[in-house]
Amino acid sequence: MTAYQYWNPGVETMNRSELKALQLEKLKWAVKNALRTPFYAKRLKEAGVDSPDVIKTLDDLRRIPFTAKHDLRNGFPYGFLSVPKDEIIRLHASSGTTGTPTTIYFNREDIARWTAFVARSIYATGCNKTDVFQNMITYGLFTGGLGFHAGGEEVGMLVIPSGAGNTARQFRLMRDFGTTVVHATPSFLLHVESKMREEGVKRESLKLRKAFAGAEPYSEDTRKRIEALLAIDVYNSYGLSEMNGPGVAFECQCKNGLHLWEDGYIGEIINPDTLDPVKEGETGELVLTCLCREATPLLRYRTRDLSGFYTEPCACGRTHRRLRRITGRTDDMLIINGVNLFPSQIEEVVMSMKEAGNNYLIVVEKEGVLDRLTVRIEVSPALFTDDARLLNALKEKIRKTLQAPITINPRVELHEYGSLPVSEGKTKRVQDNRPKDI
Ligand code: AMP
Ligand code: ZN
Repeated sequence: MTAYQYWNPGVETMNRSELKALQLEKLKWAVKNALRTPFYAKRLKEAGVDSPDVIKTLDDLRRIPFTAKHDLRNGFPYGFLSVPKDEIIRLHASSGTTGTPTTIYFNREDIARWTAFVARSIYATGCNKTDVFQNMITYGLFTGGLGFHAGGEEVGMLVIPSGAGNTARQFRLMRDFGTTVVHATPSFLLHVESKMREEGVKRESLKLRKAFAGAEPYSEDTRKRIEALLAIDVYNSYGLSEMNGPGVAFECQCKNGLHLWEDGYIGEIINPDTLDPVKEGETGELVLTCLCREATPLLRYRTRDLSGFYTEPCACGRTHRRLRRITGRTDDMLIINGVNLFPSQIEEVVMSMKEAGNNYLIVVEKEGVLDRLTVRIEVSPALFTDDARLLNALKEKIRKTLQAPITINPRVELHEYGSLPVSEGKTKRVQDNRPKDI
């Protein structure tokens, strides 16, 4: 039987009514704090929430209007700042590749609170100060680097700030320092595994036992594939820069949903079209209110991420509700000849097929008036033969397996191992080459 360990047992196993009372108290603090920012001073007053006293119960949260990404952008650079500029000590920005960045500022206490949530998350997976932690993710404006780095140090692990990329150096560091835990995107972990085979790195020469994988959506089959190929435990890590970064929701050793740390965040699931709450347990858009940051308050922030809450309690004893694996974002849905398709539906099929390699790419194009969906898949060297008949049979098998669940007839292209692009940061799985409507 697993002996579960808690970083902060009093809070992690707090009974739900106490936890809700704590949330209410922190929500009042968050509203009071938000009223100090130019953006919320206006937005909240217009909604009749001109004082924290308006919030009497947690249900009063619904009196607060939603905040969207474009609000944050419009508020750039200081519309959401609630403390004097000389109190802030760090900023991070979202990885969004277009438009004005969304920038979050932290004061010293904000960094300490955030770090404690990351430490709690790491500890929940069974790690402790004897672990050696290699943080194989981009450092910089992206929060996954410094956020996990600080959390790992807080737990007392030896932290190796290797950053992403350069697999040869990653293997050297793993061997030299006996790395036991890594953090990376799931696609980078798959790439690491392919490289291990290519470079003849023996699994026995490494002490790896766990990985934290996040920053991008991945399926349960992808998790299982990484676990089997690398012989490690993989834990799902969810966060976003608007809510500090990592340490928002994390899997415990039960690996069955991600505990949302409800003393730091209030989570709601809404229907993105009607904006009404969905029924308990249903899937919708995750909306988060940050209860743990002073310098840049965010209330009822629409994450665009799709998830839902599990309703039954977790065997680990934590009372914080668990989110289901995030399958994608409301804005990454593709419409192919009128049929809705989430890239995660394709990933599920690809990763469940043993013939498929570790990397794939979805390409959408216009062919005349119709949309054309192509799935490019790497296949393992053993299967990649010169025998056209064998390759065609494999292509046909993959095409049929894909077509059934997605109801779209895709074109399948088989590619040699290592020939599709690999990204060190978030992987771009979709190339939509259709002309944009102007
Ligand atoms: P960023 O603000 O650049 O850190 O990006 C945050 C976004 O990455 C989230 O809003 C999600 O869309 C995505 N993301 C982060 N972690 C996960 C995860 N474990 N599963 C699925 N998507 C994730
Ligand atoms: Zn649990």
